[in-house]
Amino acid sequence: TAFSTLNLHSDLLKNISSLGYESMTPIQAQSLPHILAGKDVIAQGKTGSGKTAAFGLGLLEKLNVKRFRVQSLVLCPTRELADQVAKEIRRLARTIHNIKVLTLCGGMPFGPQIGSLEHGAHIIVGTPGRIEEHVRKGTLNLDDLEMLILDEADRMLEMGFQDALDAIIDAAPKQRQTLLFSATYPDQIKSIADRIMFKPVMAKV
Ligand code: AMP
Repeated sequence: TAFSTLNLHSDLLKNISSLGYESMTPIQAQSLPHILAGKDVIAQGKTGSGKTAAFGLGLLEKLNVKRFRVQSLVLCPTRELADQVAKEIRRLARTIHNIKVLTLCGGMPFGPQIGSLEHGAHIIVGTPGRIEEHVRKGTLNLDDLEMLILDEADRMLEMGFQDALDAIIDAAPKQRQTLLFSATYPDQIKSIADRIMFKPVMAKV
């Protein structure tokens, strides 16, 4: 299916085609229409499926660049994945001027992260432990969050991030859109989804 069948801003569509993305991958075709309609979505997809562009285009379409507030938060299991996700979001966003994507991962020094947060950002990508620390310290404010994305949710749980995830979700507004991507769908993920999502659409590839 062509991206042009979606209701995306024309600058996003032009950029997608300049990146050489000709048609949607299965996970994009299954999830993007629901994401753009504002629904909560659970999608099963691995790395290489195009899942990053699925949620990346969803969050960019919804973003208001003029509001310099954290509007989207993407949680990833590892720093490597967070860096990869931030890179892909920046590529998709390259026609949007003054957009700020910030990564916040564990194992990195706190000082520069606090400095970057003081300067502000629209989109945060990071690992749950470090994000939770920033929320607890008050250096990251989630009051204006509109979209929460759990990427590779099964791996985040395997790595013991359940408590950090719960604390972050508690600090996020109840009224928001939540997207959950996971390669597998064990009971633990089902129970998280039941707690944090509202009438989620299942996008299975
Ligand atoms: P991901 O599964 O998100 O890690 O994406 C895997 C790779 O596919 C990335 O390098 C993307 O840039 C690329 N990609 C994502 N969507 C498309 C698409 N619709 N057509 C071609 N390449 C894509």
